[in-house]
Amino acid sequence: MNTRDEWARFASALIVPSTMWLDGAWFDAADRARQDVVSPHTGTAVASVPLATPEDVDRAVAGARAAFRDGRWSGISARDRGAVLRRWADLIQEHRDELAALITLEMGKPVVQARDIELRATEATFRWYGELADKLLDEAPRGLPDAVALVTREPVGVVAAITPYNFPLTLSGWKIAPALLAGNSIVVKPATQSPLSLLWLAELGSAAGLPDGVLQVVTGAGGSTGAALARHMDVDCLTFTGSPEVGKRLLIYAGESNAKAVHLELGGKSPQLVFADAPDLAEAARTVAWAITFNAGQMCTAGSRLLVEESIAEPFVAEVIAEIKNTAVGDPFDPSTGIGPVASTRHRADILAHARSAVAQGATLALGSLDAPAGDGAYLDPIVCTNVRPEHDLFRKEVFGPVLSVTSFTDADDAIRLANDSSFGLGAGLWTSNLSRAHRLSREIDAGLVWVNCYEEGDLSVPFGGRKLSGHSVDKSIHALDKFTSTKTTWIRL
Ligand code: NAP
Repeated sequence: MNTRDEWARFASALIVPSTMWLDGAWFDAADRARQDVVSPHTGTAVASVPLATPEDVDRAVAGARAAFRDGRWSGISARDRGAVLRRWADLIQEHRDELAALITLEMGKPVVQARDIELRATEATFRWYGELADKLLDEAPRGLPDAVALVTREPVGVVAAITPYNFPLTLSGWKIAPALLAGNSIVVKPATQSPLSLLWLAELGSAAGLPDGVLQVVTGAGGSTGAALARHMDVDCLTFTGSPEVGKRLLIYAGESNAKAVHLELGGKSPQLVFADAPDLAEAARTVAWAITFNAGQMCTAGSRLLVEESIAEPFVAEVIAEIKNTAVGDPFDPSTGIGPVASTRHRADILAHARSAVAQGATLALGSLDAPAGDGAYLDPIVCTNVRPEHDLFRKEVFGPVLSVTSFTDADDAIRLANDSSFGLGAGLWTSNLSRAHRLSREIDAGLVWVNCYEEGDLSVPFGGRKLSGHSVDKSIHALDKFTSTKTTWIRL
């Protein structure tokens, strides 16, 4: 497909999922209540899905528990589990156009980015964990003369995953693939905004050979369906990606129910520290522009705080603005679109409120408008605010939209002070050709991810996660398996 019309025709011909995925089949909610999935491109409903009741959540968890207990998945060899994950990856690749079109319909991501970035990452996730499956070893400490001790890792049992709308498949895949590889069953509640692509992905899992009940998808609102899942007494572990506000609430739910382990991947206000000696300032400007406009700025690692050395601030910001202006805002089915709509007009209003407050507090509006554009759809041109100071809300609060805050610094100490002056600690970009400064600042930056002379790069082999209000566990890599397994020590006296 090469044109907007071809993609739009393809999407409108899709049979969009409209029920939950439980025990390997499609299910409606017990009371038949439904909620709409609203396209941010048109502002109209593209589908409706069940609003799962606590009774439906019970059913999903009971099915997952039954699957875990009888060993239909937990009891097969890791090699066989890996083969299913790899077949699933093949099917994701085969159906990438359908899955990309569903993502575009439900949350407005430009379809080419959905296909070439999100689907590629999702496929790679299932393949990577599928290939890892039979390469994991347990431990037996040496040097115990009178005993053999085994330290084994066992699946935790029933995992619950609650996921956000911004990368509906990649972020769910980062939880589903390692949780399943470890032998668990999993119940996923996707965001209200974006359940369709995940429902389709779940069906592909069955086609790949995943036994019924091992992956359950319950749809519904966070405050009811999500809360019922998080409070469930028979869920062993909860993995969440989303906002700090909801993450904190989930910790309370766990404390009020069965003290299940809660793993949180939360928001960010990630700084990009640009020094005058950056190896390539043009490349830095392109990347800074990309890091605040990709996915319409709805990225936990959005490089939303530009910290730039005073001596180059003016020309560098001008270059960033020129790069941002080069990126087309528009219809997400148009292959030339770089920035689609944000999630909803309500979310757009919140984003604009952040920018207005920055200007009211003394920041300068260097690009964009404080008013919403006319027309249907949650479109928004990117905004750049300069002269942002640490006491401004925009310096501290996550906007989750295409709004760049710019602050200048005098030297490396000033830069690191500003970078760490945040309750978040997810990512940071560092642009310098001074090797010792790069090493020193990488150590000093209080964040889980530091990119030097690049941004948002990575691989399945390296962990992804933050600190402080950005959460406290990791997705991706072998380390993601820690949260989905528990250790057992078996001591055998000789
Ligand atoms: P959100 O509002 O926190 O929602 C995330 C999920 O939680 C959704 O499925 C939501 O359901 C559910 N939820 C809401 N209230 C709940 C409750 N009381 N109990 C249980 N579940 C509940 O986040 P979002 O707006 O979708 O995503 C944006 C946030 O995610 C940003 O803060 C962003 O930084 C963060 N994020 C973090 C990472 C990371 O890896 N660190 C990655 C991506 C995004 P509904 O949709 O039905 O409300």
